[in-house]
Amino acid sequence: MLLMTGISKKYKNGSVALKNIDLHICPGEFVFLVGPSGAGKSTFIKMLFKEVVPNCGKIFVDGVDVLALSDKEVPFLRRQLGIIFQDYRLLPDRTVYENVAFAMQVIESPPVKTRKRVLTVLELVGLKNRANAYPTELSGGEQQRIAIARAIVNDPILVIADEPTGNLDPETSRDIMRIFTSINESGTTIVMATHDKDIVDAMGKRVIAIEKGEIVRDDAKGVYGYES
Ligand code: ADP
Repeated sequence: MLLMTGISKKYKNGSVALKNIDLHICPGEFVFLVGPSGAGKSTFIKMLFKEVVPNCGKIFVDGVDVLALSDKEVPFLRRQLGIIFQDYRLLPDRTVYENVAFAMQVIESPPVKTRKRVLTVLELVGLKNRANAYPTELSGGEQQRIAIARAIVNDPILVIADEPTGNLDPETSRDIMRIFTSINESGTTIVMATHDKDIVDAMGKRVIAIEKGEIVRDDAKGVYGYES
C-alpha cells in the first residue's frame, strides 16, 4: 500500500526533516507515527499527498509513483486519499451534509449516489441527525467526526490523519478512535501521526517512532514510548 525507499528531506533553510527513510506499509494496516516535536512526522505525512517533495528517494502509494506525478495529476492522487487534520478544516458556510457531499461533487458523483453515500457515512460517524447543522454549531468532537465522514465518503485507498485527536478531550478522543477502528476493520489502511499516549497504548497497533528524521522504532504491537 505504501512503500518508501531512501527518502530524505532537507528544507531550503537547511532544516533536515527526514533522513534515508525506508518503509513498507501493507494494505489494511493501522499505523501510528510517533515522536517528539520537530521529529519529522508532519513532513512524512505531507509527502504522502505530495504537499512536500523529498530531495531524494521514492514513494509509491498503492503502486503509484507519487514523485513522478505532474502537478495536474496530484489532485487525482489526493482524491483517492482521506486526509484528516487536527483542526478539522470544514467549510464554515456549508452544512454538515454539504461539507461531506462536496467531496463527492468534486469527483462528479451522480446526485442520487451522493445522497445515499453521504447519509451512510454520516450514520457511521453518528451524525445523521445533525446533517443540517453548520460546523460552528457543533462540538470539536462532532466537527472531527464530520471531517472523518468527508475523508472516507469516496472510499479512499488510504486514510492519513495528522493529530486527529489533538484538540479533543480523552473521552471524545476514544469515540473518535472507535470510528477509526471500524474504518480500519472494513479494510482501509490508516496512517496516523499522534501525541496521544493513552490511545496508542490502548490500541496495540503498529507503532513507528521517528526521532531527528530517522525511524528509531517499528513495532508490530507497539506503545507510545514517550512521557505524555
Ligand atoms: P513534527 O511533525 O514531528 O513536529 P516536522 O515535520 O514539522 O516535525 O518538522 C521536522 C523538521 O523540519 C523541524 O526541524 C522543523 O523545524 C523543520 N520544518 C518543518 N517544516 C518546515 C518548513 N516548511 N520549512 C523549513 N523547515 C521546516
